[in-house]
Amino acid sequence: MPGPARVACITLDSAEQSLLRQWVNQGLLPHFGKLLKESVSSATRNPEIIYSGTLWPSFNTGVWPGRHNHYCYLQPDSGSYGLRRFLPEHLSVDSIWNAVAQQGHRVALIDVPNARLACTSRTLQVAFWGEHVVRRPLTCWPPSLELEVQQVAGKDPVGVCDLVRQRPQELRRLKDGLIERATRRADLALAVLERGPWDLFVLNFSEAHCAGHQLWATRDPKHPQYQTAFRTLLGEDPLLDVYQAIDRGLGRIVEALGQDAFLLVLATHGMGPRYDAAAALDSVLRRLDGIDVPKVTGPIETVRKMWLQLPGVVRRPFRRMADVLYDGPRERERATRRFFAVPTTDNCGGVRLNIRGREPKGHVEPGAPYHELCDWLERELLSLVNTATGVPAVTRVLRGDLLFAGPFRNQFPDLVIEWNHEAPIPAVRSQRVGEIRVESPNPRTGDHRPKGLVLARSADLAPHALDGDMAIVDLAPTLAARLGVEASGIDGKPILDFLPQYHRV
Ligand SMILES: [Zn+2]
Ligand SMILES: [Zn+2]
Repeated sequence: MPGPARVACITLDSAEQSLLRQWVNQGLLPHFGKLLKESVSSATRNPEIIYSGTLWPSFNTGVWPGRHNHYCYLQPDSGSYGLRRFLPEHLSVDSIWNAVAQQGHRVALIDVPNARLACTSRTLQVAFWGEHVVRRPLTCWPPSLELEVQQVAGKDPVGVCDLVRQRPQELRRLKDGLIERATRRADLALAVLERGPWDLFVLNFSEAHCAGHQLWATRDPKHPQYQTAFRTLLGEDPLLDVYQAIDRGLGRIVEALGQDAFLLVLATHGMGPRYDAAAALDSVLRRLDGIDVPKVTGPIETVRKMWLQLPGVVRRPFRRMADVLYDGPRERERATRRFFAVPTTDNCGGVRLNIRGREPKGHVEPGAPYHELCDWLERELLSLVNTATGVPAVTRVLRGDLLFAGPFRNQFPDLVIEWNHEAPIPAVRSQRVGEIRVESPNPRTGDHRPKGLVLARSADLAPHALDGDMAIVDLAPTLAARLGVEASGIDGKPILDFLPQYHRV
């Protein structure tokens, strides 16, 4: 009898690889540990600095960001100084999952972020059941599946994790909700596997992502947002509790898959304490350009702070409107400047130059003046120091031209900043800008780290650990290749170490 899937991929969104390894060594994640032993394993390579907004589209499509057009849920709207919400249907490149389905294979996807699967008799998709970024209500293909999903898994017990405030009771509920969600996610996976056999089955666990952002300080007494009540109410390590729930779910799914499937398990990228100066970036850029802070900014920031103190249930229906109201005055101001900050995940900073011919009211000439200004900004940003430590607050500044080569280069920031995540940054200072406090409205206590980890288990592969790293764009082509499907015209290529010997010519 065939197993429920020929090729399966289970992704552990933002599960920090160093914690996975540490807890495997301590015997705390038995199922992941067993897989690690039985697999060919490798580190992974994500797009540099801005990886957290770009890796899912790159994973799904097998192309680097300049070709798929996505780096953040809010991106600059070319033709204006406003921002637009980026949705999966705005991706300019089709996913590899569709190439696999088009070859006649049966494909099932569960909560894979930013993945769009064509609706055919051979495909099944559950989207937004319990994803970290909640863009839409639960969406299922075929539509009749929705009822079954609700019967098997119920409603996502967590919802938008970013509406949770850093209060012990609320974090306790979040932790319990994430443990519950990981368990029900495995129930859902088993129900979908029963509808098999699938040629390709892809499932994402999002729980480590939400836990990493919101629960990081609860396990770290040195974190500035740590509260003693955390320990009493949430236990010693709430993050470990969530990882263990994922591990139990993983174990149940792996058991159902049996030994015959080719199984890829991917810890996409990591997590660490959220130490950055993202909230001060636009003020730094204004001072560098000799511009005063607009008069409206103070009252807007005060109202925003008050808004963020309200319970999540009050904010939830209005959160998109609040974004628009917050950004409105900024939009008009951007038109008057030479360079400004654009939204990124706080994990990195993005700067866009107001270029003549690209922006509607450009102030910077393209060509040499643009490059000279980029060079100068890079030097100035690298000279910022963390006032608490005297150490540079920025470790790298990279150019959009290098990172986002491709037809959508102009949708991306021109400079991308990597913050120094080693220590909290209460304020930044440099000779030119003086001292600027970092007052972040973002309550998250953890944020991403770039390194990922991938395991491939198959009867035709001898377990071992590989040196080097594997590009995120190579993973989906590898899954396709295991089914004999060649994905053409993309940046990624199948990983030979994950293919049977006879394919490695
Ligand atoms: Zn995140
Ligand atoms: Zn979340």
